[in-house]
Amino acid sequence: MDTKCIFCKIINGDIPAKIIYEDDQIMAFHDNAPQAPVHFLVIPKKHVSTLNDLTEDDKALAGHILFTAQRLALELGCEEGFRVVMNCNPLGGQTVYHIHMHVLGQRQMHWPPG
Ligand code: 5GP
Ligand code: ZN
Repeated sequence: MDTKCIFCKIINGDIPAKIIYEDDQIMAFHDNAPQAPVHFLVIPKKHVSTLNDLTEDDKALAGHILFTAQRLALELGCEEGFRVVMNCNPLGGQTVYHIHMHVLGQRQMHWPPG
């Protein structure tokens, strides 16, 4: 755990979150500044700062995050479509340096993103 990391604090139960799903490897919770009617984050429980810090050893973990995002999106009513986003580093728009997959749904998305 990174004691300064806000998402590690959520995992540790030190700050509250609206948790949707949790197992020994990952957690999913609602974003506290939602950008769509459905907006949740799927994160690994181990602290990984950016997408660039994932390694070949994390392949199963990355797949677990992706398929959990898919399953929860469908469970939360996004069968008409949804978007997954992972922002990496400042130019990618990352603000929290504990990797997370955004899942956004139940509104029309546009391309390209801003
Ligand atoms: P990023 O910009 O790093 O891709 O996304 C970080 C996301 O985390 C943002 O959408 C932001 O609203 C969300 N976030 C930041 N702090 C908290 C928090 O304490 N609780 C929750 N639930 N979401 C947070
Ligand atoms: Zn962390």
